[in-house]
Amino acid sequence: MLKLKNICKTYRIDKNKQTILDNITLNFKNKGLIFILGASGSGKSTLLNIIGGNLKCDNGDIYFNNLCITKFKDKELDIYRRSIVSTIFQDYNLIEYLTVLDNILIGCHKTISKEEIKLLLKKLNIYAKKNITVNKLSGGEKQRVAIARALINDSKILLADEPTGALDSKNSHAVMALLKQISKNKLVIVVTHNKPLAYKYGDHIITIKDGKCRDSKVNDDDYSVPITLNNKHRNFIPLFKLALKALTNKLLRNLVTALAISIGIISIILITNIYSNFNKELNSLEKRLVNIFPIMVKNGEYKLANNKVHINKIDNDYLDYLKQIKEIAHINYNYDILFPVITDSYQLIPNTYLEINPNNNNYHILYGRTIISNHEVLIKVDQFNSIGNDLMVAFNYKEDNDYEDLIGRKLRVISNNKYFTKQDNYYLVNNDYEKLYENGFIELIIVGIVKEQEVVNDGSSIIYSESLIEELITENSNSNIVKDLLSNNYKVLGFTNDKSILLSYLGYQPLPCSINIYVDNLKNKKIVSDKLAQYKELIYEDTMSSSIEIVRKFILTVSGVLITFSLLAIIVSSLMIAILTSIRVLESKKEIGILKSLGYTKKNIRFLFNLENMLIGLLSFTVSVIIVFILVKPGNNLIDKYIGIDNLLNLNYHYLIVILIVNLLIIKIVSTIPVIRASKLDTVSCIYGK
Ligand code: ADP
Ligand code: MG
Repeated sequence: MLKLKNICKTYRIDKNKQTILDNITLNFKNKGLIFILGASGSGKSTLLNIIGGNLKCDNGDIYFNNLCITKFKDKELDIYRRSIVSTIFQDYNLIEYLTVLDNILIGCHKTISKEEIKLLLKKLNIYAKKNITVNKLSGGEKQRVAIARALINDSKILLADEPTGALDSKNSHAVMALLKQISKNKLVIVVTHNKPLAYKYGDHIITIKDGKCRDSKVNDDDYSVPITLNNKHRNFIPLFKLALKALTNKLLRNLVTALAISIGIISIILITNIYSNFNKELNSLEKRLVNIFPIMVKNGEYKLANNKVHINKIDNDYLDYLKQIKEIAHINYNYDILFPVITDSYQLIPNTYLEINPNNNNYHILYGRTIISNHEVLIKVDQFNSIGNDLMVAFNYKEDNDYEDLIGRKLRVISNNKYFTKQDNYYLVNNDYEKLYENGFIELIIVGIVKEQEVVNDGSSIIYSESLIEELITENSNSNIVKDLLSNNYKVLGFTNDKSILLSYLGYQPLPCSINIYVDNLKNKKIVSDKLAQYKELIYEDTMSSSIEIVRKFILTVSGVLITFSLLAIIVSSLMIAILTSIRVLESKKEIGILKSLGYTKKNIRFLFNLENMLIGLLSFTVSVIIVFILVKPGNNLIDKYIGIDNLLNLNYHYLIVILIVNLLIIKIVSTIPVIRASKLDTVSCIYGK
């Protein structure tokens, strides 16, 4: 059944070639207990490992059923080890932290019933200990577990390397008796230097000395045995357990690594989350405020980026040009003209208190109602619900009065004809307010007290409708003072300005000093600002958009920096994973050797290490998600408290899944090299720790 032909093996020791096996030719029958005797160092283990497919010989062939094993490729050798030959190594070679049952199952490559396992365990007298971890067993028990593992695949050949080497005499005899019994059905080759045992139990004894086999009576038995090949490893549960054990055995170390990756992941989760939600918040803010904050054009000087000065001058051409956006924008023109308004307490309202109604629903009504007709006005209080001193004086209003009392109070707009009195060549300003009030041009009535919802222009004021000023301009452009100034050289006392400025001030063809342009939505805003940008003479200001843009850029920069750091954290921790994998490979050399000798393929070994790494990845992800969920609520409260945005942190699940996948991918990539290296380790050197 098994034939060795001219097997040679030399080792190179310090440049010297040492021949260990020298042209060994042996034939084995399909059953029986065969002993290979020899002094220590004579090459017994070497021979056994060559037969077991764990070691390559330099020369010669081994045939099993006429299959030439020595010509097998790695994958075929894996199948050979899984199906045909089982090796019991010196020192048992069990996985110490797995249970008896798992150790046996890990060597199993075929479907097996519970009954069969029970029978095997009972036969070897270890059934009672099946759930005990191997490191708690005695030497004799360990050896029986190793034998059970070698028997589970029902392979045709059982090889045992010094199976009694570490046992006392009583246990040695028990093990030998067992092997003797097993040898009734299969070929058992035992390597030992214990002569008495060999002669007591052996059916046949071969002695190795100086690389040659003595007493090798050659069997000419060409008997073939039927075999079933176990192509694939079928039992993954012990492998999972192995990975899980590897994880929990060094739990602290793995947890620290997991935590290191977590920190990177957590910060990326949080930062990107804050960033995207903040942006959403900014977008909705922009949407909400688009009709509140106007685009502004002002007369005056502007410093340009290149330090040049641009002189903005609103002229009639520009007013014409603005008509292009009339359809989608609401335009308020502010004039710097004489606009005397006198209260029913006969006081003049300072012009700084007069404000055009922007008609954008930004006013929250405290008392009364909003403006319906052109001759109605509102009093706007500031954010502290108070009105300015000058206004209080103008209405003869006391601190303890109620704002409601102001509703219904009247004001009158005074036209030029009443405001100025002609005296010889001069026009004098009339300052008998009571008399002016009596001769008022338009009467205004206060209908409501309001407050700004979004603070655009904090401070109290009187809000009038825009058509009021047009009415006054129409009236005043025909006033006596204007006519006289146009035709003669009349002087207006107290005014020293140039005549055209004076005329404009008096309401004769005045140009706006500033223009506020309101739009309803962002789409229109884009159209309007594009249109305005085409008119190069005038520079306009979009304070809201520019401040939002500044915030946006700031957040982007900060997030970018933080994400870079988090990425660095992830890279560093990935390196840690790579290093840890290498360390784990070194630490698990013995296990790798055991698995390989049991017929596990390179792929299986890679699977095992990848599985361990994936478990670490899952662990780190779970740790991160838990930490993040713990952080979300207090984080949100903190943000709400300081920035005033609630629920800024709100995680979405798709996002977490993407991060999990990325995390696992990173781990897979960085550990590829150590994992491949692990799978390529040499079986024999792993097992003997060389
Ligand atoms: P035995 O099992 O009979 O005690 P071995 O087969 O283990 O002997 O070893 C035979 C000889 O080969 C020993 O001298 C040992 O030092 C040497 N040897 C075994 N493995 C190696 C190796 N990987 N490299 C070099 N020398 C080796
Ligand atoms: Mg040996």
